[in-house]
Amino acid sequence: MPINDTSNEQMAEVYFEDLELSEDVLDALWDMRFEKCTPIQGQCIPHILEGRDLIGIAQTGTGKTAAYLLPMLTLLAQERSNADAVNCLIMSPTRELAQQIDQALQGFSYYTGINGVAVYGGNDGVRFEQERKSFQQGADIVIATPGRLITHLQLGNLDLSRTTHLILDEADRMLDMGFIDDIKLILKQLPKERQVILFSATMPPEIDAIAKEFMTNPAEVRIAVSKPADKIDQSVYVCRDADKPLIVQHLFADHAPERVILFSSSKQRVKELTIALKRKGFNCAQMHSDLDQKERDEAMLAFKQRKTDMLIATDIVSRGIDIDDIKMVINFDCPHDAEDYVHRIGRTARAGREGRAVTLVGEKDHFALSKIERLLEEKIPRCPLPDGLQQPEEKLQKQGKKPGRQRSGKPRKASANTETKETPRHDAKKKRWNGKKKTKGGQAMANKSQNTASVTQNPTASVS
Ligand code: AMP
Repeated sequence: MPINDTSNEQMAEVYFEDLELSEDVLDALWDMRFEKCTPIQGQCIPHILEGRDLIGIAQTGTGKTAAYLLPMLTLLAQERSNADAVNCLIMSPTRELAQQIDQALQGFSYYTGINGVAVYGGNDGVRFEQERKSFQQGADIVIATPGRLITHLQLGNLDLSRTTHLILDEADRMLDMGFIDDIKLILKQLPKERQVILFSATMPPEIDAIAKEFMTNPAEVRIAVSKPADKIDQSVYVCRDADKPLIVQHLFADHAPERVILFSSSKQRVKELTIALKRKGFNCAQMHSDLDQKERDEAMLAFKQRKTDMLIATDIVSRGIDIDDIKMVINFDCPHDAEDYVHRIGRTARAGREGRAVTLVGEKDHFALSKIERLLEEKIPRCPLPDGLQQPEEKLQKQGKKPGRQRSGKPRKASANTETKETPRHDAKKKRWNGKKKTKGGQAMANKSQNTASVTQNPTASVS
């Protein structure tokens, strides 16, 4: 699968084959055509295999899921001591990310015989009972959202006293969502001898404090905050708030929307917009945390299957959701956190494709826009408003440096051809492929990975 591997131009390439991963894991990687590590993988996997605690500072899209799952599957296969215990717990802030980790696990663990269960709220009593049973039978790996896990712990359904590996994925997001005390509670239930792995896009003081209190001499791998991919054609409409729906209509005056995510900051606004845009004839669906799990799954599936053209969502889908072929992201509200902007628009132009990001900047958003431009170190091109709309004056920035150079507005060319080429290494590995019984499931995973693999990497990675 082609990947956007700019970083590998600057860092020594690491092949999965050269790491001490188990044969079963390498076989699954071969099925999925994953050959070279991303920087976060190349640097994290050896530490995790050594059993060290680790802090990985990296965003979604860097390949961080495989960075912890691959060595974890290898370690669990070697340990194999607690057949009746939950040996590894992975905490995820959202249900969607938990599902996605579970999917990745199914692929990577295909030949290992290691089983995992995803545990998250919003589903029925039958599912809850299944989760309870799977704990009793000793699921090797449990992937859970904090709320649901705490409920099981309180009911005595789960014993973490023999859980020797804990992975906290998107720890800063769990902090933002108010789960910090739950995380501490969970950490306190683990045995003294354990491995704690923490991934976070940022390192706020609260997460740092957790690391100091609960981790032992952690290795630190840092992949610098990435700027949006060059292939994203970014633009801004400076407008009155009341005119935003008209601008959305204008964007699709000539063609129907296709693979569009429209972000709005509040659930209420998402609900209202969905109704308003449906009335205007748009084939759209909503996505926010007031929906129950079934509704969320249905909305995501319909969108993935192209049954809906536009997903209107809160930031619930701005991080960690792996849909590769988004053509356009619309920020109906300008995000007030500049990194949220990067996360949101990073949903498009994945896996070497091109994409467009349009941001509607209303009366109160001017300062937020200047923060974004400071982070990007460039000015995003302004689009003229459609005829008949009044152009508000852009307010001056309140503080900080001047934004950098003006982008051309044209999307730059996608990076050079990244198609996987047949290499001597491939020939060697074909032996691996031929040596394995090719099963329906294995092939299905290979197909899946061809459809979904995408990695955005950043050249500046450091390790200490
Ligand atoms: P993540 O950051 O874990 O969400 O991964 C982003 C995407 O990159 C997923 O679709 C992965 O399947 C894909 N991916 C992860 N590692 C690799 C790799 N080494 N080679 C190719 N694709 C990868």
